[in-house]
Amino acid sequence: MGARDLIQTFFLGELRQGLSVTLRYLFAPKITIQYPEEKTPMSPRFRGLHALRRYPNGEERCIACKLCEAVCPAMAITIESAQRKDGSRRTTRYDIDLTKCIFCGFCEEACPVDAIVESNVIEYHGETRGDLYYTKQMLLANGDRYEAEIAEARALDAKYR
Ligand code: SF4
Ligand code: SF4
Repeated sequence: MGARDLIQTFFLGELRQGLSVTLRYLFAPKITIQYPEEKTPMSPRFRGLHALRRYPNGEERCIACKLCEAVCPAMAITIESAQRKDGSRRTTRYDIDLTKCIFCGFCEEACPVDAIVESNVIEYHGETRGDLYYTKQMLLANGDRYEAEIAEARALDAKYR
């Protein structure tokens, strides 16, 4: 051990150095927040929980073109469709397995009618694998519940594109 190290040790140099860092950060602006009471701002392009949207008249937007299913790199989407009596085509099954999904956003990008979207909802969980298997009804329910936030985020995103 050299003389410099001896002096450092004798005068508790490292301890003082450590305490000075503590003191500096004690009065610095805090960068942590009290989640979940406080939340940080979120990008309108955030890719969270999926939702299927409807038009204002209640009609499903999805036209069962299956582009989202084709583009999904994780093969997480399963769609079955049928023709209605009025000649229009709609899905009879639209499932997303969130345990496979990598939240890449490709499904959302591919959709020609803004039907499948990823909302900014992050507060969901599953206690079994099956809980994260979202059916059409669950996805439509997400859309109905979060439509105001989804529409606002998409309008904001369009403004800055
Ligand atoms: S976000 Fe990506 S991985 Fe997930 S369902 Fe959509 S396309 Fe598939
Ligand atoms: S969600 Fe969009 S891309 Fe997927 S099947 Fe429906 S209309 Fe097509």
